[in-house]
Amino acid sequence: MADPLIVMQGIQKAFPLGDQVYVALRGVDLVVEPGEYVAIMGPSGSGKSTLMSLIGCLDRPTAGTYQLAGTRVDALDDDQLAGVRNQTIGFVFQNFFLLPNVPAVENVELPLLYTGVPPAERRRRAREALEQMGLAHVMDHAPHQLSGGQQQRVAIARAIVNRPPLILADEPTGALDTKTSEEILRLFEQLNDAGHTIVMVTHEPDVAAHAKRLVRLRDGLVEADQAIAGRRVLGQEAVPDAVH
Ligand code: ADP
Ligand code: MG
Repeated sequence: MADPLIVMQGIQKAFPLGDQVYVALRGVDLVVEPGEYVAIMGPSGSGKSTLMSLIGCLDRPTAGTYQLAGTRVDALDDDQLAGVRNQTIGFVFQNFFLLPNVPAVENVELPLLYTGVPPAERRRRAREALEQMGLAHVMDHAPHQLSGGQQQRVAIARAIVNRPPLILADEPTGALDTKTSEEILRLFEQLNDAGHTIVMVTHEPDVAAHAKRLVRLRDGLVEADQAIAGRRVLGQEAVPDAVH
């Protein structure tokens, strides 16, 4: 079997708070295998975003070990972290985080800028990723000319353009209506079927129900971690018991 993509052991994250520290993660163990689709849920303040920023190599834990795609990343410096991040992870955020005055195709090219891929090849790959997202006709549009669902699809194209094994999504449907959310979830399903590992934070049970595994955080610890039996299929109303 392939090595796990994510191996976190005893992960802690403390933030300085005045002359004290606030401990947002208190010892998280998490192993994610290639090809998994994991939803992370938990009450506000339970540590979801903190955990995502650690998984995403945007920050370092204050204790514990983290191995990502075979590399120990918990003690890397900022430049090294940025390198691993660029190679390994595509990010999708609630509010898209597209550059406002830049055409879709150039937004999608951004992760390729520092990888040594020549400009013509960057453009070709960006176009291909946008086509995959059904956006061939709006490649030259700026984000403000696009609907919310289209903007999120541009962001997903940007997340996959470098072909990273891992996609991290923090509330990716939080700013979208139900129908558009389902379109986005269908794309995630396709990406997962194509081999991308997905870790997604959501507070909505019927969004989490699309994943294959549910991790619940509470007070900075993993409270529950289970497979989702009877994963939700689009068009089918029932939400599996695990996510209620
Ligand atoms: P969630 O995403 O589950 O709502 P967060 O991970 O954002 O939770 O936050 C967990 C806890 O850590 C919260 O109490 C929050 O106030 C605290 N926290 C998060 N980031 C910081 C920070 N940079 N400095 C101080 N406290 C923080
Ligand atoms: Mg959060």
